[in-house]
Amino acid sequence: MHLKIALLEGDGIGPEVTVEAVNVLTAVANHGGHVFEFLPLPIGGVAITAYGKPLPDHTLATTLQCDAALLGAVGDNKFNHLPPSERPEAGLLQIREALGGFANLRPAIAYRALADNSPLRPEITEGADILFVRELLGGLYFGQPRQWDRQTGRAHNTMVYTAEEVERVARIAFHLAAQRPKKKVTSVDKANVLETSQLWRSVVTEVAQDFPTVTLEHQLVDSMAIHLMTRPRDFDVVLTENLFGDILSDESGVITGSLGMLPSATLGGKVNLYEPVHGSAPDIVGTGKANPIGAILTAALVLRHSAGLEAEATLIENSVTDILEQGFRTSDIARGNGEANLPGQRTVTTAEMGALILDSLNGKLTRAEFPIPTLQV
Ligand code: NAD
Repeated sequence: MHLKIALLEGDGIGPEVTVEAVNVLTAVANHGGHVFEFLPLPIGGVAITAYGKPLPDHTLATTLQCDAALLGAVGDNKFNHLPPSERPEAGLLQIREALGGFANLRPAIAYRALADNSPLRPEITEGADILFVRELLGGLYFGQPRQWDRQTGRAHNTMVYTAEEVERVARIAFHLAAQRPKKKVTSVDKANVLETSQLWRSVVTEVAQDFPTVTLEHQLVDSMAIHLMTRPRDFDVVLTENLFGDILSDESGVITGSLGMLPSATLGGKVNLYEPVHGSAPDIVGTGKANPIGAILTAALVLRHSAGLEAEATLIENSVTDILEQGFRTSDIARGNGEANLPGQRTVTTAEMGALILDSLNGKLTRAEFPIPTLQV
């Protein structure tokens, strides 16, 4: 397999965590005889400094020629004086839009070893394994017309969906659910009030008929916000529109317990875009405190959704679980503020955590612990 990967490290801790993601991908390539070609490209603040804009033309043009894009994070306080359209974050919004991915995947997993990190009680979160599939290009965030009329003191946005927009993201959600053990889709809407949600519910119900092995349930978004915190184990794939997905997937971050643990993938566009959920974390840049696990789990998603290497993706995920079970922690997921090595816990740096996971992965690859068959989206 030959995979060309645009490497968009970006700002702050972006480069620190991305290198650890590249290391696990390289290990998989070396063991499997694959070629993963990484093309480093500037985006965000580093691109403004070098090229005067957050998404240089050659970054976008080259990314569009790649099979996948792996992004670290963007954002640098030294550009806060610029208007929003010229700041580092604008580069991220521009590349997301240009790549055109409409299905944003965000897993929310309760790791047994991190049960104490969640504000939820361990008996609530234990065993929770949710995959959010959020529609990313439609709904309230993009609908026209939109306006804030300062003179009249009136503002409005438009929530709009077409059946086609709903169907394409629903198909991805059902396809993924069909390959997971629980085989369940929970579609979230507000069909008791909104016409867009009534369309959403009707299209999702139709799509479900093409996936007879998958169970479909509908939930209203307000009660879903409660269910996710009181019985997260009951959910498998959660499919929802842009605004609801933005809020619910952030809310579900508490199940895992740290922003530094969360990966994401955006599928369906010209090139799939993979990025950890966190930002550039200027408060910890250069301290070795950045947790690379979100980026490493993002690398697993690259293998799963752009390379068809499901077994290898699972090995990366199992390596993360194993290292956490052995008590290794970056400071964001350590008890006692990460300053002390408490019983059963050893606090490590970004690079040390990356090396531990890499070692564990290399061992698994050598022993060829390939647990499950190939899956592809
Ligand atoms: P942030 O995610 O960068 O940081 C929030 C808090 O979480 C900070 O205390 C940070 O130290 C911590 N944190 C984040 N990632 C971590 C990791 N991997 N390991 C350990 N701790 C981690 O969000 P913010 O502080 O609101 O924003 C900082 C900058 O990042 C801003 O410029 C913002 O615009 C940008 N941002 C970028 C993205 C992105 O690139 N996708 C996302 C969010 C924010």
